[in-house]
Amino acid sequence: MRYSQLLLPTLKEVPADAEVVSHILLLRAGFIRKLTAGIYSYLPMGLAAIRKVENIVREEMNRAGAQELLMPMVQPADLWVETGRYKKYGPELLRFTDRHERESCLGPTHEEVITDIARKELHSYRDLPINLYQIQTKFRDEIRPRFGLMRGREFIMKDAYSFDVSDAAAEISYRKMYDAYKRIFTRCGLDFRAVQADSGAIGGSFSHEFMVLAKTGEDTIVVCNNCEYAANMEKAAVKLRPGSAVEPLAELKRVETPGKRKVDAVCEFLGIGPEKLVKTLVFMADGKPVAVLVRGDREVEEVKLKNLLGAADVVIADDLEVFNATGVPTGYLGPVGISIRVVADQEVAAIQNFYVGGNEKNFHLQNVNLGRDFQAQAIADLRQITVADPCPECGGSLSLTEGIEVGHVFKLGTGYSQSMNATFQDSDGQEKHFVMGCYGIGVSRVVAAAIEQNHDDNGIIFPVPLAPCTVIVLNLGVKDEQLTAVAEKLYTDMLAAGLEVLIDDRDERPGLKFKDADLLGIPYRLTVGNSYTKSGRVEVRRRRDGVIEEMTPDEAVKNLYEKITAELGK
Ligand code: ATP
Ligand code: MG
Repeated sequence: MRYSQLLLPTLKEVPADAEVVSHILLLRAGFIRKLTAGIYSYLPMGLAAIRKVENIVREEMNRAGAQELLMPMVQPADLWVETGRYKKYGPELLRFTDRHERESCLGPTHEEVITDIARKELHSYRDLPINLYQIQTKFRDEIRPRFGLMRGREFIMKDAYSFDVSDAAAEISYRKMYDAYKRIFTRCGLDFRAVQADSGAIGGSFSHEFMVLAKTGEDTIVVCNNCEYAANMEKAAVKLRPGSAVEPLAELKRVETPGKRKVDAVCEFLGIGPEKLVKTLVFMADGKPVAVLVRGDREVEEVKLKNLLGAADVVIADDLEVFNATGVPTGYLGPVGISIRVVADQEVAAIQNFYVGGNEKNFHLQNVNLGRDFQAQAIADLRQITVADPCPECGGSLSLTEGIEVGHVFKLGTGYSQSMNATFQDSDGQEKHFVMGCYGIGVSRVVAAAIEQNHDDNGIIFPVPLAPCTVIVLNLGVKDEQLTAVAEKLYTDMLAAGLEVLIDDRDERPGLKFKDADLLGIPYRLTVGNSYTKSGRVEVRRRRDGVIEEMTPDEAVKNLYEKITAELGK
């Protein structure tokens, strides 16, 4: 590639609407351009980085025995009606009608389409196991597309689907994908962790997410300091610790709390700790209000709540919704005598004589007890785990860290094959439902995650396996015949050796060339300049640590070839 001919529009300024470093650098390095909210064009170098991820994914999927196919992006609504997801999926599913008034949608994921293929094309246990995958553009009408490639509306995903004769066989397929994912993210040069995860809208019983560890990650991961336990915070079960001694139930009292609405203010006014005050929060679950009780020092985990209620969508109610549902002004809501559904975190059921809102302005209730003063329709683990909680598996201490979800593997069971009546004939002659699994990787998100993890003040620092090219040759004397001849020979020699090379042949100042080379994050920079004229040597510089070595051009080709092939080690 020749810089002078390449569409590589680098920017000096930090683009106004970019918040996270990968978004800023992908724009500044001229890798992507925004078309509209959450929708980007991949310019040549951006596409080259994406292709690197795709190739690693493809090699490892093939190695694991999966077969590549390509399904349509436009899907008929009928298939989604069969599985019940046409209603359930929510507004992320972009629905439209074609000229014949047929309802359709843009694929956010492909369980329906692949199950339709399976029920038509796979007939016998002899056709199984099979794992089919594609690398394709997905569309999800995300409510808040943000952070560039990290959360787009249109993005590239690898999605794979396995079909097996039994649970035990499906377990093997799942394990194969789990192992393939470990290889993929290791080969990408990423610092990642596989964690237990919630299954979300895809459904199913069991899943793991692959998280790239980075401060800007939108997910919080809980890691045990003692055992192998690691989980997404959404999933991490809180182990109820034996509480303090059970107190005798005291008489319910109404206490005045003038103008005190927030937990801190109420506690300070009453001279109590937040563990004695129970918050009553209203959520709208598929549009219906539900009151959720947690201790004053705890946070509700919305995913746990969603799972408990079996709701597609759970959002915290605003003040008006709370007032319309309960008639109580903000800050004074409590569970005693309210008409909406009440569910309580398990800890609330384990304490006595607590305080709650009094359901009238300026009042709280004291000595409240679940079971005596109000009932809850469900008592469950509904709060977020904290570092003060014990590991749910071994009781050890926990740490929290942030992660970016780059991959997700699910055991689906027979949910889809049953709703779509997808069966095969087993060896005993019986018709059985396929046991399925599904496995996604956010290919475009991997590029962003790699940058979040690998950058400095000057730009991107690509791990060699993901770099759009591995060497940039800087010709600092484009008007000097000798220097140009050396640079051009280096370029062609390295191409001939199979290296991916960009030559900066622009008639620009050296300072600008150095800056752009750093910004692009190309792992090795080879400079042909004054020192060649003096000593016959060129300069090899490693982007990651700035280490510089001088050598002859022939040595440089050999040296770089060896370094790069070693770092690509498969
Ligand atoms: P998230 O929790 O981040 O919304 P998800 O759990 O809904 O993601 P999956 O259905 O598991 O996503 O999709 C498989 C993979 O696709 C994810 O692990 C992630 O890497 C990627 N992905 C999902 N949504 C987006 C998006 N909006 N933009 C870019 N990549 C995405
Ligand atoms: Mg996921």
